[in-house]
Amino acid sequence: MSQQFDVVVIGGGPGGYVAAIRAAQLGFSTACVDAFKNPEGKPSLGGTCLNVGCIPSKALLQSSENFHAVQHDFAKHGISVENAKIDVAAMLKRKEDIITKNAGGIAFLFKKNKVANVHGLASLKGREGEKWVIEVSDNGAVVDTLEATHVIIATGSSPRQLPGLPVDNVTVLDNAGALALTEVPKRLGVIGAGVIGLEMGSVWKRLGAEVTILEAMPTFLAAADQQIAKEAFKTLTRDTGLDIQLGVKIGAIENKGASVSVAYELNGEAKTVEFDKLIVSIGRVPNTAGLNGEAVGLQMDERGFVVVDEHCHTNLPNMWAIGDVVRGPMLAHKASEEGVAVAERIAGQKPHVDFGVIPWVIYTSPEIAWVGKTEEQLKAEGVEYKKGTSGFAANGRALGLGQAQGTVKILACAKTDRILGLHMIGPMVSELVTEGVVSMEFKAASEDLARIVHAHPSLAEVIHEAALAADKRALHG
Ligand SMILES: Cc1cc2nc3c(=O)[nH]c(=O)nc-3n(C[C@H](O)[C@H](O)[C@H](O)COP(=O)(O)OP(=O)(O)OC[C@H]3O[C@@H](n4cnc5c(N)ncnc54)[C@H](O)[C@@H]3O)c2cc1C
Repeated sequence: MSQQFDVVVIGGGPGGYVAAIRAAQLGFSTACVDAFKNPEGKPSLGGTCLNVGCIPSKALLQSSENFHAVQHDFAKHGISVENAKIDVAAMLKRKEDIITKNAGGIAFLFKKNKVANVHGLASLKGREGEKWVIEVSDNGAVVDTLEATHVIIATGSSPRQLPGLPVDNVTVLDNAGALALTEVPKRLGVIGAGVIGLEMGSVWKRLGAEVTILEAMPTFLAAADQQIAKEAFKTLTRDTGLDIQLGVKIGAIENKGASVSVAYELNGEAKTVEFDKLIVSIGRVPNTAGLNGEAVGLQMDERGFVVVDEHCHTNLPNMWAIGDVVRGPMLAHKASEEGVAVAERIAGQKPHVDFGVIPWVIYTSPEIAWVGKTEEQLKAEGVEYKKGTSGFAANGRALGLGQAQGTVKILACAKTDRILGLHMIGPMVSELVTEGVVSMEFKAASEDLARIVHAHPSLAEVIHEAALAADKRALHG
């Protein structure tokens, strides 16, 4: 006998688990099916984000920043530490403890909200009357059959692999392998200078590896505002010490077991370089394997994404899809907000996710963050704009932190003064960007930010100053 639900969510990442909790809060009987197993073979909720993505990467970034600070910054505070050493095993344990704590937290929230927590791979079997039938298997054996009025697909994404170069997570690594290295490699290669490549490269560089990042695109961080991207390139190469090569054409790659050789062409010159480990971070592909979508007529595009409308509804009745498996930025908070919106739409509400106001963050040091349009986008769209910039160099709080580096740029409509974008590189801009998100959601003008009292001394004063600069009345510029 199948278990009956109003809503079955497939995938327990930040899209799926949040959708399931919201659906249950709205009174629907809800199950969430998730297939993820941790390295010990145990179920672990939270998807890519919690297990092998956002959270573990931030844990390791912090450990590596602390190690760097002990060696390079503490002396300026009058603190001397001799022979600082990194215990990689302890660092990885701390990371694992954070994952275990948060995964347990999701399981607790499921219990609290009466979401049925089902472990296994969900496969769509078709319709029985008004219900969708979903088969759940584990280790190849069917363990459950569920029936649901509504299905929310939140199966996420997996790392894109280079053709002919299988990831073994010993020498050739994807994100999971890059987050689990048990010792600091001497020579680390990274293919792809996107968010994941830069964050992982930063971690292992600060712990002592020589890091070379090879990027096919000639432009660094093409999606970011190019003024900020240029400053980021300078800082990450000069201060962090990442060797970032742009416009590279990758040739043959040979995994020799103990090392890997990468042939590439740069400015017409052929080169071959040997690495002890190679991280492949060239993007991610939607996860639909095992879902049996084709058999039930689920529409997918040529790149494998589930096709949805602006409400995340698929081409099939009462079937929805959210997060990395559908169009739009592959970001955890985008997945979660879509999850909430779908649950509320099923309940007959009229939710809305504003794709124009989704924050982006790269957790390098300094951090890079933005929301809204870049200057390049505004120019291409022919929008008349004004801008204000200000730096962290003289900001008292940043100086106290020892991180007085970076820039904030605000872009506003030349006619209405409405804020169109906020772009930053600097300390804790992952937190500061929310001021831009809130302002833009409330359709604020740059003058609004300029007239709002900001605490002193605080990093946010740089945003205030940038807003003043947009009106040509910077006080400290
Ligand atoms: C190294 C790294 C760092 C990142 N850092 C950030 C960051 O700082 N901020 C940010 O916003 N984003 C970050 N991301 C991206 C973020 O992880 C994703 O955008 C987010 O996890 C997408 O959420 P999701 O719920 O759509 O899918 P996922 O988190 O991928 O979860 C999908 C879940 O569904 C399961 N599943 C798949 N198929 C089935 C099936 N048929 N049946 C049952 N279960 C199934 C999977 O096992 C998985 O558990 C990072 C990603 C990586 C790799």
